[in-house]
Amino acid sequence: HQPTMSSFTYQFDTPTYKGTSTVPTGLFINGKFVEPLQKGTIEVLNPVNGKVITSVAAGTAADIDIAAQAARKAYKERWGLKVPGVQRGRMLSKLADLLQANVDEFSALEALDVGKTFDAARNSTFSTIAALRYYAGWADKIQGKTIETNEKKLAYTRHEPIGVVGAIIPWNFPLAMLSWKIGPALAAGNAVILKPSELTPLTALRLCPLFVEAGFPDGVINIVNGYGSTAGQALSEHMAVDKIAFTGSTLTGRKIMEAAAKTNLKKVTLELGGKSPSVIFDDVDLEQTVKWVSHGIFLNHGQACTASSRIFVQAGIYDKFLKAFTEHTLSLKVGDPFEPDTYQGPQVSQTQFERIMGYIKSGKEDGATVHTGGERHGNEGYFIQPTIFTECKPSMKIVQEEIFGPVAAIIKFTTEEEAVEQANNTLYGLACSVFTRDIDRAIRVAHSIEAGTAWINCHNSTELSVPFGGFKQSGIGRELGEYALEHYTNVKAVHVNIGHRL
Ligand code: NAD
Repeated sequence: HQPTMSSFTYQFDTPTYKGTSTVPTGLFINGKFVEPLQKGTIEVLNPVNGKVITSVAAGTAADIDIAAQAARKAYKERWGLKVPGVQRGRMLSKLADLLQANVDEFSALEALDVGKTFDAARNSTFSTIAALRYYAGWADKIQGKTIETNEKKLAYTRHEPIGVVGAIIPWNFPLAMLSWKIGPALAAGNAVILKPSELTPLTALRLCPLFVEAGFPDGVINIVNGYGSTAGQALSEHMAVDKIAFTGSTLTGRKIMEAAAKTNLKKVTLELGGKSPSVIFDDVDLEQTVKWVSHGIFLNHGQACTASSRIFVQAGIYDKFLKAFTEHTLSLKVGDPFEPDTYQGPQVSQTQFERIMGYIKSGKEDGATVHTGGERHGNEGYFIQPTIFTECKPSMKIVQEEIFGPVAAIIKFTTEEEAVEQANNTLYGLACSVFTRDIDRAIRVAHSIEAGTAWINCHNSTELSVPFGGFKQSGIGRELGEYALEHYTNVKAVHVNIGHRL
């Protein structure tokens, strides 16, 4: 690998942020920026206007191979069991401090790359900092148990790192997803090769110099940009990678499991898609419910895996809810992510824009009614109006499939049983929410819906200390909280004979 100094500088001169960001554009392998072995690049586009922001290096299988060897060597010689948890925690903590010192620059870069508002990007960066701190705190608290067996034996467990972890992340929350992977992985003593989404490579690259400054030894964290079908596939197939932690679509999740099955049976955790229901009963606090459901579906322009894309409303409050929800939706300003009063920026890419517009078209063709929205916003970039469909039937594509855009399907129901049955009528099981003032019903319904997260009187209200993941085809394993650590450690059982003679 040839070292490289290539970088690009972006000058932000916006109403909410003014400043300069310089981002290295090579592959970050073994603590250094290098050129890819084959000279590929990825064009990074601005979703506001479709124009090229810059190009970054695209790694392929050969680069992944070198990164995997570097990570393995680093893990054995300079990391893993060689570095006490308290030191690993200190480095993660330092990384959080360094990110905090540059919070606005990182947020601006994330907003530019994804199209989210500067304000939303700041929230995400702060949550990334908090995730790094949260796992910094765990690094010296990962421990096994002694297990009583009989008086002639001492038995105990050790929670050892797995080794080399491949992390593959999506474009919707690039920094936060990075922290959900590297936080627990590094706390537990693993080395990491992370492949960002080809759509949003910038903030991960900007973070690389901070890894060095935070004190992580060379090779412990490697960032290799590249396309899914080349770099991502190679990482999933690599014999020296012991685990893949993936967030993305269900389709790609299947490919990763297949790749793992065909090679070294590496461990796989998957955070996949969703079609999460919100169930709203007659007795709710209407104003709060409208706000939470709106946050549920329109957060990040609908590009959230937990989006409350199916909204079940009880008949007695249906008209009132629809009126208030529509008014609220119409008040959400779509526009430039760096304008202070913008709520929603563009979708991330032309492909996503077209997919979502395709779903809107299919909803119309299937007989649902566009109650509000349903059109592109403006003439350039990938903006879509926040959209509400009514008269939706369970069999429609807009009710069954993940749209991943600002499109809500509203469905009227009468009884609790009917609502639960329809809410469960999906291949997915990532999240759900229940809105009611009746505590018995709230808990009963939350327990009846097949989903990894059930929110009562809120939606999209994730906590770093609380596990997150899916039932059914929404995934395997859990991220966040103490639960995530299980997926980044191997349990070794040690039996010590203290006097049992044969
Ligand atoms: P995607 O599956 O297309 O891509 C995700 C990542 O996988 C990217 O880095 C991509 O390069 C990589 N990839 C693609 N093909 C691959 C292959 N064959 N082998 C290995 N890696 C490959 O998903 P996306 O379009 O980036 O993100 C949108 C999807 O992600 C939605 O379906 C959404 O629900 C899901 N998502 C889920 C969660 C969650 O926590 N459950 C969070 C965010 C997004």
